[in-house]
Amino acid sequence: MSDPTVAPRVIIVGGGFAGISCAQQLAKHDVDLILLDRNNYHQFQPLLYQVATAQLAACDIARPLRGIFRHEKSVDFRREAVTAIDPDARSVTTTSGSVLSADYLVIAAGAQPNFFGTPGAPEHSLPLYSVNHAERLRGRILDVLDATAERPELGGQGSLNFVIVGGGPTGVETAGALAEALRDVVPERYQSLGQAATVHLIDHGDVLLAPFSEKAHAYAAERLQRDGVVLHLGVGVKEVFPDRVTLSDGDTIMTRTVIWGGGEKPVDVVAAADLPHGHGGRIDVQSDLTVAEHPQVYALGDAANIPNSDRVALPQLGSVAQQSGAWAARNILAEIAGNDRTAFHYKDKGIMAMIGRNAAVAEMGPHRHEVDGPVAFAAWLGVHAMLLSGTRNKIDTFIAWGWDYFSKERATAVVDRPDATRIDWGDDDEGEKPEFDLGSTRPQTLDRGDGDGRT
Ligand SMILES: Cc1cc2nc3c(=O)[nH]c(=O)nc-3n(C[C@H](O)[C@H](O)[C@H](O)COP(=O)(O)OP(=O)(O)OC[C@H]3O[C@@H](n4cnc5c(N)ncnc54)[C@H](O)[C@@H]3O)c2cc1C
Repeated sequence: MSDPTVAPRVIIVGGGFAGISCAQQLAKHDVDLILLDRNNYHQFQPLLYQVATAQLAACDIARPLRGIFRHEKSVDFRREAVTAIDPDARSVTTTSGSVLSADYLVIAAGAQPNFFGTPGAPEHSLPLYSVNHAERLRGRILDVLDATAERPELGGQGSLNFVIVGGGPTGVETAGALAEALRDVVPERYQSLGQAATVHLIDHGDVLLAPFSEKAHAYAAERLQRDGVVLHLGVGVKEVFPDRVTLSDGDTIMTRTVIWGGGEKPVDVVAAADLPHGHGGRIDVQSDLTVAEHPQVYALGDAANIPNSDRVALPQLGSVAQQSGAWAARNILAEIAGNDRTAFHYKDKGIMAMIGRNAAVAEMGPHRHEVDGPVAFAAWLGVHAMLLSGTRNKIDTFIAWGWDYFSKERATAVVDRPDATRIDWGDDDEGEKPEFDLGSTRPQTLDRGDGDGRT
């Protein structure tokens, strides 16, 4: 039996939306809390594409975890990656070799890109799931523009084709922002390069933004096409090479920039844990967010399949992660106080996606009231600014957005990791050549298959 004079210990793995919100609730009570994250910061994934397209700086969307908990003396933040989880012992092993055990274990380690076994994708595509990824992508975009400005013949090698895989919110938002930057910002700096560049968006489904309504599918497609984005719908990516992608319909697109927004799966340490894994490889949890047969082990956010009241798994969204984190804390505190845990109730505030300047789609509330255009654009900005962690980040982001809206300045358009983004243009290498180049003007229709979305 535990000693009532010693505060119960809780270990939280992951300082994302779910981990932070759980820790913030627990920190107000007499709990000995260890928060572990492989990074020293909390990142706001919904705005990663704006870092990648130089609208925002990384520090606008990332916040040091020690700063978030600077007033909470009961929170012991440790910057360590967890390498193994033992649910029976409620313990974790970290990269330093320490084994930490607790009364309650909260698994909130999020997700990583899922390449679905696509050959070449892990090596040659650029995913967009972390600040690190966003900075690398920004560097790659600037590298190909700089190189092509100096050597226009590289355009013939597809240097100005930007290929985005995945027509869910991540792919659509990135495509819209990139097309806008190529239209409005790039021509000022690189003369004619912007006009020669093309964004290709590929999805094996028939529609964009699959989790949204049919009206939103059509709106997103029409708006992106108006901005010059070439849609490849009903088509899968067969293989990614350093200089091109091949598609399931036999086409090839020459490119040096393949952006992967094609899906996600739990991080390796979660996948390897001896716990029940269900759809998408995520941990199946019960209605009270604990794992079956492990009443003191919780799995939250993107790491978990969290059932709603109809027993259907909720989507991988920031709001689900945040609310599940707070609810898990409530259940832990209830149990410590000798009360019963209660079933998680998700407050559905709706979904939204940005497409471009004055263009977004939003489906508000549980009854999905649909809005698009400038109203949805304004709502998107307001909601995302409010969700950002930290007053300074909110203010900086609002200023950056205002600046960006009224000027074509992109202050963060810097290549700060030249080694990570350097491209081998293979001038001397005759190597394997594609059979043909798709070019940039392939006409597209929207009349095939099922959509794919982040959710
Ligand atoms: C590009 C993109 C755009 C998105 N846009 C939206 C949006 O507009 N609206 C919306 O609602 N949702 C959006 N989402 C989804 C939303 O960001 C996620 O659902 C949410 O971040 C999940 O929160 P989480 O706490 O479960 O995981 P995360 O926020 O991913 O946090 C997991 C944490 O665990 C840490 N971690 C991972 N492995 C380890 C380890 N082995 N050891 C220690 N720490 C570890 C990570 O460093 C990270 O800090 C988006 C996601 C992406 C990728």
